[in-house]
Amino acid sequence: MEFGLGGGHDALVDDVRRFLGEHLTPELLARVRRGGTYHDWDFHRALVAKGWMAPGWPVELGGQGRPPLEVLAIAEELQRAGAPMLGLGTTMLVASVLRHLGTAAQKEAVVRPALAGEILIALGFSEPESGSDVAAAQTRAVRDGDEWVVNGQKMFTTNAHEADYAFLLARTDPTLPKHRGLTTFLVPLRQEGVEIRPITTLSGERTNITFYADARVPDALRIGEVNGGWEVMTVGLTYERTSAAGGDSIRLLEAMEDWAVGGTPHGRSADHDERVHEAFGRAATENEVSVLLSRRSAWLDSIGELPGVEGSMAKLFSSEAITRQSAQFIDLLGPEGIRTEEDRGAPARGEVEWAYRFAQGTTIYGGTSEIQRTIIAQRGLGLPRG
Ligand SMILES: Cc1cc2nc3c(=O)[nH]c(=O)nc-3n(C[C@H](O)[C@H](O)[C@H](O)COP(=O)(O)OP(=O)(O)OC[C@H]3O[C@@H](n4cnc5c(N)ncnc54)[C@H](O)[C@@H]3O)c2cc1C
Repeated sequence: MEFGLGGGHDALVDDVRRFLGEHLTPELLARVRRGGTYHDWDFHRALVAKGWMAPGWPVELGGQGRPPLEVLAIAEELQRAGAPMLGLGTTMLVASVLRHLGTAAQKEAVVRPALAGEILIALGFSEPESGSDVAAAQTRAVRDGDEWVVNGQKMFTTNAHEADYAFLLARTDPTLPKHRGLTTFLVPLRQEGVEIRPITTLSGERTNITFYADARVPDALRIGEVNGGWEVMTVGLTYERTSAAGGDSIRLLEAMEDWAVGGTPHGRSADHDERVHEAFGRAATENEVSVLLSRRSAWLDSIGELPGVEGSMAKLFSSEAITRQSAQFIDLLGPEGIRTEEDRGAPARGEVEWAYRFAQGTTIYGGTSEIQRTIIAQRGLGLPRG
């Protein structure tokens, strides 16, 4: 039984670290944190140039044909380093949907420039009254000749201000049962009928409310059948829940290790403090579990299985682990723990304070913890619907 990624991955990991050393500068990291947009065009294009936009895709489709465990090795390193990857993540989610369900014209007009690092695609699923119950979407799309006219609003359209399209879930037949009357579109965002308004989360991350007032989308940019949007969403949401996990809490623990080795601002020796050992031992164990859960998903992918429940487990565990750990580290540091990263001399470079705020959102986006637990109970254990 092999729990690591295997010795063959060492050279690849070294290559990613070299790449990060060159392109992920402290200035870039600080700029991303300050601005709250977890996408940077220069870094994104450097990833594209390296072939790491879609390393798992077949070479003939613009990828590198790497097996899932190599793809994960790259993703783990990028996540551990805190690389700004949200734009890449949502764009590749939609590109993967289009790879399976898109028309030849959509692949040429959207997937090709997306893989070339020329455009981004944001996700327009959630609305003010529908997040977990995403099929309750009320945003309407009405057919008008070769086009559709979209009216409504979407909450949390992350990176809409950088993106060219929103992968939009809209109601096309309100007379049909909730899941049956939905259709998905790629709505061009740079048009008059679309307004993008920023919202800032607790951690300073920028996301957006997007308003659609008679926005237009050609029928050629409809994905899947009319009223077949739920089938398209099922594919999309599966991709949303399979990615690297644990990188953020590994980085947090590393910052805390530096603090422990360097001593505390009050001169108290952290090395032999039992509470330090307890918190660090717990965090290291949880981080190992997070990594192994996401490796299991990648392994299932590599043998041709769809890791739905396993992806939910990795997402659930890693997001709750960083929430627990950051709270425990704040307790450990006492009042010093809420000094921010702008505050020179803050313990662990202010990473604990930031992680505590950042962690709260991780248990919400990509499906809340409650929803992940329900998926695991129903699909994994076969329990009936509550
Ligand atoms: C930082 C951030 C970025 C995001 N980016 C995007 C994006 O790019 N695109 C996008 O479309 N969305 C995005 N979202 C939205 C995210 O997917 C939703 O916030 C999430 O699905 C929860 O929906 P909601 O906020 O409407 O909460 P609700 O669905 O209203 O949930 C409220 C509470 O009730 C619980 N709950 C709801 N239903 C059930 C149930 N059946 N059983 C048990 N408990 C339940 C939830 O777990 C939660 O605790 C983002 C959210 C955040 C915070």
